[in-house]
Amino acid sequence: MPELPEVETTVRGLAHALEGRRIARVEARRPDLRRALPVDLGQRLTGARVSGLRRRAKYGLIDTDRGDTLVFHLGMSGHWRIDPSAIAKHDHFVIETDEGRRLALNDARRFGSLDLVRTAELQDWPPFKALGPEPFDLDARELRRRLAGRTSAIKLLLLDQRIVAGLGNIYVCEALFRAGIHPRRAGGSVSLERLKRLVPAIHDVLTEAIEAGGSTLRDFASPDGQLGYFSKSFAVYDREGQPCAGGGVVRRIVQGGRSTFYCPACQH
Ligand SMILES: [Zn+2]
Repeated sequence: MPELPEVETTVRGLAHALEGRRIARVEARRPDLRRALPVDLGQRLTGARVSGLRRRAKYGLIDTDRGDTLVFHLGMSGHWRIDPSAIAKHDHFVIETDEGRRLALNDARRFGSLDLVRTAELQDWPPFKALGPEPFDLDARELRRRLAGRTSAIKLLLLDQRIVAGLGNIYVCEALFRAGIHPRRAGGSVSLERLKRLVPAIHDVLTEAIEAGGSTLRDFASPDGQLGYFSKSFAVYDREGQPCAGGGVVRRIVQGGRSTFYCPACQH
């Protein structure tokens, strides 16, 4: 499942092909993904120039000079294919640029989404309206304000997109491990001192994953190159029963219906 680093890597990869280019043609190969595609997608995008690409939480944003932003979410299985030699079964949306480059959004499970939003109105767009700050814009004092008085587990609060946007299961597990914080600890009880370890740990795990993803940029020129997925190694995530570097054994618990991996020897 794509998390923030995969989306960031995808946006950077798409920028190579799209930034400053005019959209020559778009093709919606089905009417919907998770929800219906905008009916006027083709009309509004064809002929527009791409003025920039950005990420917000786990959404990729493609801005055009017509004041529209194409917003994509990769859902569970979505990824963009750059210059595929042929259109494949689950390529649901295709963009062609004035340079003849072709980008296909492939999403077998169709949990992803594509929306066209007026750029000036993005902040008020319902999926964005309640989002907390980006992890990279967060500091320990701001996080402490956001966690104050909260009795839910810190793990669950960090996954709450209203508190901080874009964090997913893998990187929350890894950041809590690095900061030595037990995932079940009440959010409001984590001291400022410990949050001053947690916030840089969040930044570091995300930055390392984005840098690892950057190595996949080499593949962009190759036919059927996929964006957004890369192999990673984790300290605790998906390592139940294995030794941790600090001498403990990684344990798995379930919180909010999802697996949490942590080390009882290192995290308190
Ligand atoms: Zn440990």
